[in-house]
Amino acid sequence: MDIINILPDSVANQIAAGEVVDRPAGAVKELLENAMDAGATQIDLIVKDAGRTLIQVIDNGSGMSDSDARLCFERHATSKIHRADDLFAIHTMGFRGEALASIAAIAQVELRTRLHDNELGTSVTIEGSHIVDQHPEACPCGTSIAVKNLFFNVPARRNFLKNDKVEMSHIEEVFRRITLIHHDIGFTLQHNGKMEYDLKAGSLLQRIAGLFGNPYKERMYNVEEETDLVKIKGFVSKPEFSRKTRGEQYLFVNGRFIKHPALSAAVEKAYADLLPDHSYPSYFIGLTVDPSRIDVNIHPTKTEVKFVDDHALFAILRSAVKRALGQFSLATELSFDTPPDFNIGPAPTGFIPQQPKVHYNESYNPFRATPSQTKIKLTMPERPEKPEEQLVDDIQPTTPNSSLLGVPSARPTTPNSPNCIQVQGRFIVAPLSSGVAIIDQQRAHERIIYDRLTQSHNNTLTQSQTLLFPVNCQFSAADAELLGELLPDLKEYGFEIAAAGQCTFVVTATPAELGDSDLQALLDQMLSEYKGSTMQKYSNRTATLCASMAHQMAIRKGQQLTQDEMQRLIADLFACPMAELSPSGKRIITIVNPEELLK
Ligand code: ADP
Ligand code: MG
Repeated sequence: MDIINILPDSVANQIAAGEVVDRPAGAVKELLENAMDAGATQIDLIVKDAGRTLIQVIDNGSGMSDSDARLCFERHATSKIHRADDLFAIHTMGFRGEALASIAAIAQVELRTRLHDNELGTSVTIEGSHIVDQHPEACPCGTSIAVKNLFFNVPARRNFLKNDKVEMSHIEEVFRRITLIHHDIGFTLQHNGKMEYDLKAGSLLQRIAGLFGNPYKERMYNVEEETDLVKIKGFVSKPEFSRKTRGEQYLFVNGRFIKHPALSAAVEKAYADLLPDHSYPSYFIGLTVDPSRIDVNIHPTKTEVKFVDDHALFAILRSAVKRALGQFSLATELSFDTPPDFNIGPAPTGFIPQQPKVHYNESYNPFRATPSQTKIKLTMPERPEKPEEQLVDDIQPTTPNSSLLGVPSARPTTPNSPNCIQVQGRFIVAPLSSGVAIIDQQRAHERIIYDRLTQSHNNTLTQSQTLLFPVNCQFSAADAELLGELLPDLKEYGFEIAAAGQCTFVVTATPAELGDSDLQALLDQMLSEYKGSTMQKYSNRTATLCASMAHQMAIRKGQQLTQDEMQRLIADLFACPMAELSPSGKRIITIVNPEELLK
């Protein structure tokens, strides 16, 4: 008895769908890619219930003819390749002709499409691979595909979906991977009626800022390289903006997001020891290579790719990133010879700026010069090649105690030697032209953050960073009440916190400065500091909050700093109007003058 039969298309398609569309994000990816392949310049993605009830993609691309509008749902129906040879020169995102057939097998799909030359378009409705309706319809040029009730006929798959938050985060990741590299196309994303992203066509850097927030514009170095083998274009994060997790790391090849551990390692290697331990750079790098030099048999859901020229690519990429890091400011920004170009915040309340004092020798007569007077003043000899006394002679003694805490009122001349030393994991010792500065690293960092916070508060420029996964925090009843009161203030500093029960709050965004910290601990500490009597000394609520946030965000005692970090910290500190005192009034800098050094 014969027992073999050929599966009906609807069943075969459903099986195939399991591979291509395993969750709503899979359908989103296929639909967005089709819209790009159709040459769209504007693509709108509309999602309801994290894609469970609706995924709709509207594009202004080529559109389809009446018969193509039906044919596109057949398996192996594609306009993108015609023969096997085409496989070696693929310039489109799709080519397998599987996606629409798969999606139509597991959802109710409504397609509206119109060719630019036609006056009337077509509407096709298909459910579980069966066309239930097709009629001419007046519609805009281009294509709109609405995928409704995904997995309506595959309960196992439907039940397997995670909660909306998780599914939506997958969709957003797909959206980022596609929109980042196709920054010349406008995209929007709406979820449950709310516009989540409205990305205008523009440069890669504008796109990065549109997706991750404006501060990213200042956090990136440009990487560019062109060789016979590969063209590289993109951005890498400045070392000081590295993160504790491998978050924003995006590599693309020929417009397609890829994962390639060796190439990622090439980028990270380029940073060498510029990064603190367990920190990772962010990067957004697009490679363009000859399509015949990569493995074309790319599976739609896979992101791995094989290159013929692995090793060469690795070396080129690493040196391109290295050059970007070296070429831009690391050297110049950290050199104390050039005044750092920082925004200097407004002085804290009550601070009276003092005139810098110019010291000069009234009895100096250039025509009766003594050797010591004619000597050219060295701001900071790299390595003194003369006896100590002579060196000290060169350095102007500071007038004693003209300012707070006895720190010379004229801002200490910034050191121009790169050699700082960290002592006891707590103090930075930096050579100055007027002696040696001993700087408390934690207090210095507090001052820098405090100034930035108060400055951004006054300018209402606070940069907020949306969390990929919101965090729930629990508080005692009293703390919950206080936090509730402080919410509007915290919002101004970039926190998005909402009450989610009597004593529970959900944090959905934090100030960009914050990085990845333990939010519960941070808020607990902040509240207790806010309540604590020590914080009452600030002029107002804003100052109190800023000081307590700065205290929480600052680096701690015991944190090892690299040479670059120390220099950066000092440069930032000296750019603060009140570099001498921490926000809570503790002394940051002690200057040991040459006389004391000699003793
Ligand atoms: P593939 O993209 O691999 O060719 P799909 O199943 O995704 O396979 O799409 C089948 C065909 O339908 C495409 O080759 C294309 O001709 C047509 N198509 C799909 N989406 C669109 C769209 N948004 N605009 C114009 N044509 C489209
Ligand atoms: Mg496709």
